[in-house]
Amino acid sequence: MLYPQEFDVIVVGGGHAGTEAALAAARMGCQTLLLTHNIETLGQMSCNPSIGGIGKGHLVKEVDALGGAMALATDEGGIQFRILNSSKGPAVRATRAQADRILYKAAIRRMLENQPNLWLFQQAVDDLMVQGDRVVGAVTQIGLRFRARAVVLTAGTFLDGKIHVGLNNYAAGRAGDPPAVSLSARLKELKLPQGRLKTGTPPRIDGRSIDFSKCEEQPGDGMPGGVNEGLLPVFSFMGSAAMHPRQLPCWITHTNERTHEIIRSGFDRSPMFTGKIEGVGPRYCPSVEDKINRFADKESHQIFLEPEGLTTHEFYPNGISTSLPFDIQYALVRSMRGLENAHILRPGYAIEYDYFDPRALKSSFETREIKGLFFAGQINGTTGYEEAAAQGLFAGLNAALQCRGEAAWLPGRGDAYLGVLVDDLITKGVTEPYRMFTSRAEFRLQLREDNADMRLTEAGRQMGLIDDARWERFSRKRDAVARETERLKSVWVNPRILPAAEAERVLGKTIEHEYKLFDLLRRPDVSYASLMSLDGGKYASGDVSRETLGELSAPVIEQVEIAAKYAGYIERQRDEVQRAAHYEQLRLPPELDYMQVAALSIEVRQKLQKHRPETLGQASRISGVTPAAISLLLVHLKKGG
Ligand code: FAD
Repeated sequence: MLYPQEFDVIVVGGGHAGTEAALAAARMGCQTLLLTHNIETLGQMSCNPSIGGIGKGHLVKEVDALGGAMALATDEGGIQFRILNSSKGPAVRATRAQADRILYKAAIRRMLENQPNLWLFQQAVDDLMVQGDRVVGAVTQIGLRFRARAVVLTAGTFLDGKIHVGLNNYAAGRAGDPPAVSLSARLKELKLPQGRLKTGTPPRIDGRSIDFSKCEEQPGDGMPGGVNEGLLPVFSFMGSAAMHPRQLPCWITHTNERTHEIIRSGFDRSPMFTGKIEGVGPRYCPSVEDKINRFADKESHQIFLEPEGLTTHEFYPNGISTSLPFDIQYALVRSMRGLENAHILRPGYAIEYDYFDPRALKSSFETREIKGLFFAGQINGTTGYEEAAAQGLFAGLNAALQCRGEAAWLPGRGDAYLGVLVDDLITKGVTEPYRMFTSRAEFRLQLREDNADMRLTEAGRQMGLIDDARWERFSRKRDAVARETERLKSVWVNPRILPAAEAERVLGKTIEHEYKLFDLLRRPDVSYASLMSLDGGKYASGDVSRETLGELSAPVIEQVEIAAKYAGYIERQRDEVQRAAHYEQLRLPPELDYMQVAALSIEVRQKLQKHRPETLGQASRISGVTPAAISLLLVHLKKGG
């Protein structure tokens, strides 16, 4: 049956990528349909019950700055929050939260159900409708045909998914969910380049069987005994600590020599070591057997026992992801302190699945081969909820822009981690599941969590992603930061008027000539608060006072302070970004036959011919394409070649 309603955008899959894609397209006014296996699993966390972390938290803040759901749902479902790297510079500080799975899912579902222009429908998608070189819709398991102008595919780990526990294996999308076999076959038929990857998850433990007195307690920030007691971190620009439910601690135990012996005794029945699993796993999230094998001399590994929620006893032992046989899993868990009597609720497992080579995508995440078909999330070779959410939002908004007949939105590597993620994927591809790190960004001093809103919310508003409430709040903050920075740059402190004792108290020494407040704030030992207390508060501003800005005053002060302290570094980095932008924006002629560019080595010619980068910047990041080759290519282009 052909479904009577025609949609602008169909999103297939209701995971982290799919939900952000559907919400973004609908927020931008497109009639959007979210088709997924099971409405009960919308926004489900397949693995660890946590959101954020270094690099990942940055992505969540960017999704939030563009009006996405992940940060707000975490504020509603978060049962422990921490600011990682809090003693380091602002660029590498990152928010991380443990989430109550049920509360998180409920928040996502509520946002989806209340989003205008968005329809939900529960059915497996088995086929895509393709006419010529364009996708025109999707077909479900019972033969329902839905038409649309664009389709965003976010099938996660489900395409031809195969679960492994020891030498046993079976078809599944993740534990308890069916695989997407027909859709996988159809995509292979469409000849889109694909491969196999794998990921794994640990066994889950009943908290009633854990002896917490033998484990080390790890409270969250703001909790009793934690950092900044009474001050809970917040993820979303629109969130608040008042939204957080009751907070819980995590616990720490360790593997030991006995654990390692047990693990080694299972190697001969490991699907990974016996070649049963062909897909490559995530290097930065290895299974425990991989860790013991690779780091044989390490005597112990730290294991975090993370609560899965407020209404369950289930615990997630972070650090023992495994696909070893169940008898080995049982023994290895019970070999650790505090877990001697542990009851396993769910076995750990590995899953192998199809992914699609992201080098076959345009910079908008539309496939090069099939117009209107976009891919986002784990299907593009990434791992992680945050990477998936960021891609989903990106593909959803670009599908919507295409439907509106507008050009794609393509943030650069100097604008956002999202820009880094997209560019890395489409130019370099993946050889193992890709996850975000701050080290992947060349311009990380300016890609901070704290300024994600300043970097992206205006662009989001222009595209229609930002509602009036967020826009009004953001504008107030942006204007207050600008006003206060301007004031600090125009108010002078005169040494003849400032009492020497005050100068020594706040600045550490007397000043010999006039200084702008802004320049005094650049000194490492001078904080905004101390400067505002100078000479009885004579230089304090009314603009950033709590009365006028309420909860926004602390973020305003933070921006003003960072702008002063890091101005020099940020300026230098901005110059670098601008220089690099020259390359970024130089578009390469789509018809250019690289094999004819004689100055380049055969290897470089072949690589460029294969990847066909859209800009010189993308070309420069293809592995094996050296800066020298880029200069030669530039000369060739200038000669009109
Ligand atoms: P998913 O969250 O997988 O969502 C896919 C959605 O699409 C599901 O709702 C599914 O029902 C739906 N769907 C699929 N096919 C169809 C179809 N044909 N028709 C209709 N609906 C369909 N990440 C980490 O960062 N670290 C880890 O250690 C880690 N370990 C993991 C271990 C396991 C066992 C699994 C399963 C995942 C793990 N992940 C890990 C990955 C993390 O779960 C994913 O990165 C993230 O969920 C990807 O989001 P997604 O939206 O791309 O896909």
